[in-house]
Amino acid sequence: MKECEQCKNTRDNPNHYNIHSMGCPYCCARTLWKLRRWAKQYPERVSAYKARAEQLIQRLPWYGLDESYVQKLSKSDAMPVQPEPKPEKSSGKR
Ligand SMILES: [Zn+2]
Repeated sequence: MKECEQCKNTRDNPNHYNIHSMGCPYCCARTLWKLRRWAKQYPERVSAYKARAEQLIQRLPWYGLDESYVQKLSKSDAMPVQPEPKPEKSSGKR
């Protein structure tokens, strides 16, 4: 999986969250994660947040993403973000 630019930006700056890549399961999970938090924070807007989450979930198959996987990611305590890619493995010899 190639590195997601928006996840990288979020790792560099956790407050950077307005932009997300729709093809990335972590970005979609991050959006759901935030909508859920906002819904708790602003109960008067719950229905609006729920509608946005529904809309996003409905689009997941269109982006080629597995809903149950994105849902699972979105339920973690920490904000979902693509893990930093591991550096290329060296030859293995020390
Ligand atoms: Zn991403």
